[in-house]
Amino acid sequence: MTDISRCDPVQLLKALIARPSVTPEDAGVLGVLESALTGLGFTVTRLRFEGDGSYPVDNLFAIRHGGGRKLLFAGHTDVVPPGDLANWTSDPFVPREADGKIYGRGAADMKSGVAAFVAAAADVPTQAGTIMLAITNDEEADGINGTEKLLAWAQAQGHNFDFAIVGEPSSAAELGDSIKIGRRGSLSAVVTVEGVQGHVAYPEKANNPLPVLAAIVTALSGEVIDKGTAHFPASNLEVTSIDVGNPTSNVIPPKGTLKFNVRYNDLWTPQALAEWVSGRIATVDAGQARVTFTVAGVPSQSFLSPLGAAVDTLGDVIFEMTGRRPTLSTGGGTSDARFVAQYGPVVECGLVGPSMHKADEHVTIADVTGLTAIYTAFMTRFFGDLG
Ligand SMILES: [Zn+2]
Repeated sequence: MTDISRCDPVQLLKALIARPSVTPEDAGVLGVLESALTGLGFTVTRLRFEGDGSYPVDNLFAIRHGGGRKLLFAGHTDVVPPGDLANWTSDPFVPREADGKIYGRGAADMKSGVAAFVAAAADVPTQAGTIMLAITNDEEADGINGTEKLLAWAQAQGHNFDFAIVGEPSSAAELGDSIKIGRRGSLSAVVTVEGVQGHVAYPEKANNPLPVLAAIVTALSGEVIDKGTAHFPASNLEVTSIDVGNPTSNVIPPKGTLKFNVRYNDLWTPQALAEWVSGRIATVDAGQARVTFTVAGVPSQSFLSPLGAAVDTLGDVIFEMTGRRPTLSTGGGTSDARFVAQYGPVVECGLVGPSMHKADEHVTIADVTGLTAIYTAFMTRFFGDLG
């Protein structure tokens, strides 16, 4: 009863690719994962979350109890649509092996990361430590009924963790050259300036909102937000749209709007950033015009994971396996790691992802087995090293 089942990450990857799990369609992908994990001694719970203005989503939580420390792996099985099939050499949902690569939608982002971790778990003795997986089928779209709710559920069940790995493609050019220890936050907003419509020949009877709008654009984009921090670049505001919608040349328009997005570092919360924006807008003399500033949607928080021994261990393992010491990066867009970070230290460590979301998405077999070896070596050391 103590024998440990083996799991071939490439075979598992192919089985996952063969399920066309375009968000939020499960298409049997979590069933493939459930049977693989059950065979490795995991207890699997399937959870469907719904509501909050989004579609229902199937999620999976798995745990294999051992002694000692607790490691969480988080990831997703959903994929973006293949796009125009004419751009694909072969069916995106029939895994194709050629030239040492596996082709198919999700090969890089991130069915290979999931397969590599499951195969690595198969190589770690059960008693070494507790391994958990939190897998959602909605990372690529709304992300409302996915990882955030899955982790809240796990926490309520008492499934806390000492360290977490998100298996998103984190490498830049070669396996292990970069891991992500945090992410910038993202805040989108709209500013509207309302004046009074009128004839251009009688400006005294109108109130043109556009000079005020232009001054606000300058006030926002002309100011340095901060100079960056130890692990983050400077926060940046980009104006993305200035809209008036005026087809005529003899009418002063009644209003104009501008849209912008801020990618911000760990110096800021969304609230503090919104106050900064309000302060900049207040430097503009709007006269009689009415200025409104609204944050669009829910901003994503920035986070920086605590840099402790586990991150060092992961760096050491990657160096020993690849000869490269990973850069500790905070670049790129947002990811589900921001939800994991609310409960404990987390890094993103996965494959190279230049073909993510593209036609003929692929991964090299050597990278899949290489990542499996990194995960296995990390777990062996993480569970063995109680320091
Ligand atoms: Zn992904």
